[in-house]
Amino acid sequence: MILAYMEVREGKIKKSSLEALSEAKRRADDLGEALEAVFLGKDLDGLAEGAYKYGASKVYLLENPLLESYSSSLYALVLADFINEIKPKAVFFSATAMGKDLSPRLAAKLDVGAATDCIKTSVNNSVLEIARPIYAGKAFASFQFSSEPWVVSLRPNVFPLIEPLSEKGEAVKKEVEASQDQVKDQVVEEKREEGAELDVTEADIVVSGGRGMKGPENFGLLRDLIALLPNAALGSSRSAVDAGWVDHQHQVGQTGKTVSPDLYIAVGISGAIQHLAGISSSKFIVAINKDPEASIFKVADFGVVGDLFKVIPPLKKELEKFKE
Ligand SMILES: Cc1cc2nc3c(=O)[nH]c(=O)nc-3n(C[C@H](O)[C@H](O)[C@H](O)COP(=O)(O)OP(=O)(O)OC[C@H]3O[C@@H](n4cnc5c(N)ncnc54)[C@H](O)[C@@H]3O)c2cc1C
Repeated sequence: MILAYMEVREGKIKKSSLEALSEAKRRADDLGEALEAVFLGKDLDGLAEGAYKYGASKVYLLENPLLESYSSSLYALVLADFINEIKPKAVFFSATAMGKDLSPRLAAKLDVGAATDCIKTSVNNSVLEIARPIYAGKAFASFQFSSEPWVVSLRPNVFPLIEPLSEKGEAVKKEVEASQDQVKDQVVEEKREEGAELDVTEADIVVSGGRGMKGPENFGLLRDLIALLPNAALGSSRSAVDAGWVDHQHQVGQTGKTVSPDLYIAVGISGAIQHLAGISSSKFIVAINKDPEASIFKVADFGVVGDLFKVIPPLKKELEKFKE
C-alpha cells in the first residue's frame, strides 16, 4: 500500500497535498498497490471526502487534542508508530515547510532513507525511482531506495492533479495516544500579515524584480502587472531584498523560496546561479533585461532585450486590453 500524508490549513486540505496524493495514485497504479491517506490533528471530520476524490480508497484520521497545532517531535512520533503498524511501501508528502520538516524526521525514526523536494517519480522494475535537483538546481540526480518504506516529499506546483473521482472510500478514525511530555516543540501561534499578498510558492504566475528595478518605488510597476494577471505574485532577487526594496518573503532562490509557477517573469534580474536554483522547475520563463549577455537568457523560453522602464508600460497596456 502507498500512503500519502495530508496537510490541512484553515480546515481545508492543502492543494500541494492533493498533488502529492495524485502522484501517489499514479505510482500506486503502476505498482498495483492500494492508495491510502492519513491526517493528523484534532476534529478531522469531513476531510476524508477530499482525499477519496483524489484516489485514496482508505483514509485514516488520527486524532488527539495535542495534535491540534503542529509539533515536529509529536507528529513524527505518532506517524512513525502508525507506519510501523500499517507498513506501507511508500509514504508521500508535499515538500511544504511542514513536509520538509516532517518527512526526514519520520525517515530517521524508521531508520530508512528520505528523498526530499522531488520533481519526478517513476516506477522501474517495480521499484520507485525519483529525481531531485542537486547543486542548487545545476543538475538532477535519480535515486532508488534500498529500504522500505520509501519516504518522499514532492515539490509543490510540479505534479498535476488527477481528474477528481466520484468513488467513496473507507474512513478509519482513531484516537491516538500522546502525552504532553512527548511535545518537545510546538507551533504556538500563526500570524497572517495584514493585507498579505499571495505567496510566490502558491502563485501560477510570478513576476520578479531585481537590482535593475533601481529602487523600491519602481516595484509598483510590477505590482500593476500582477493586478492584471490571474493568481499572480511578486517575487524578487536577493539583491532587491538586501537593498531593502522588498520584504524577504518575496525572495526567490537558494536562500529564498523555490517556485514552480506556470509562468515566471524575471525583470532586471541577471540570472545568478543562486537565483536560478529557485526557478528551475518553472514551466515557462520570460526574461526582460537590457544586457543581451545576461545569464537569465540561457534559461529563458522567451526574452526581451531592452530597458524594463520602456518594456513594462506597453506590456501593461496590452494586458489591460484583456481585462476590458
Ligand atoms: C550563498 C548565496 C546565496 C544566495 N541566494 C540568493 C537567492 O536566494 N536569490 C537570489 O536572487 N540571489 C541569491 N544570491 C545572490 C546572487 O549571487 C546574485 O548576487 C543576485 O541574484 C543578483 O541579483 P540581481 O540579478 O537582481 O542583480 P544583478 O546581478 O546586479 O543584475 C541586475 C540586472 O538588471 C539588469 N538591468 C539593469 N537595469 C536595467 C533596465 N533598466 N532594464 C532592464 N534590465 C536592467 C542588468 O543588466 C542586470 O542583468 C546568493 C548569493 C550567495 C553567495
